[in-house]
Amino acid sequence: MKGVALVTGGSRGIGAATAKLLARQGYAVGVNYRLRAESAARVVGEIEQSGGRALAVQADVSIETEVVRLFDEIEQRLGPVTHLVNNAGALFTQSRLVDMDLERFNRVMLANTTSCFLCCREAARRMQPGGAIVNLSSIAAQLGAPFEYVDYAAAKGAVNSLTKGLAKELAAEGIRVNAVSPGLIYTDIHADGGEPGRVDRLGPTLPMQRGGTAEEVANAIAWLLSDQASYVTGAILEVAGGR
Ligand code: NAP
Repeated sequence: MKGVALVTGGSRGIGAATAKLLARQGYAVGVNYRLRAESAARVVGEIEQSGGRALAVQADVSIETEVVRLFDEIEQRLGPVTHLVNNAGALFTQSRLVDMDLERFNRVMLANTTSCFLCCREAARRMQPGGAIVNLSSIAAQLGAPFEYVDYAAAKGAVNSLTKGLAKELAAEGIRVNAVSPGLIYTDIHADGGEPGRVDRLGPTLPMQRGGTAEEVANAIAWLLSDQASYVTGAILEVAGGR
């Protein structure tokens, strides 16, 4: 076995694709989810059917006690987490910043930034040399996402800074920390933003003239986790079709 990978928000989209890929590569995979128990169970079922090892664990990763319980449960049932993918994230209906209320802003920070901080800290406390962390950022951090979700862009900007800083803190301990920064990827997150067809609308305007798939992002995540990226830390890898 390659190690124990924890994928937060592994019930759908990029997280589900990553969990399945890592299982195919030989990791035992903790598939975390918050609400969608059936979807997480489906991901685990698919992994097990193909001969892999996986476990679905419910936890809201923006809550400190739940993160500690999540790591404890994975450790007891699969073994200590050796590889972490901070994939859980959320955005809300497209809006101008001037119309956003504080409650929404705080929820976005909790879902995208606090969750990343809490899971990174827990991993940093427990991981042994050879461990690796990949955080899910977004190209929105550079673009600012005006008129759509500036709150989300700011939350992902914080993820970039956290990635850089933690990478430097943990480098001498033999733990690598990187981020993947996807562009327009076909998942259900865009429906949560109020525009299910967003990738089809904007994909043709990109240099590569199309949106990306969850599997294409999963490939980049898996590479950064792997020993093939052994000299890579503090990197923010754009997977955005040239955007
Ligand atoms: P998605 O389809 O909406 O899936 C998000 C996942 O995160 C779900 O499994 C959800 O679980 C989980 N989640 C949300 N909040 C959580 C919490 N507090 N605790 C635990 N799990 C939580 O999103 P996606 O498009 O695959 O995106 C995955 C990551 O990539 C996110 O960080 C996103 O910001 C980033 N990203 C996506 C795109 C894109 O175009 N799709 C572009 C740039 C960056 P439940 O369903 O069980 O709640």
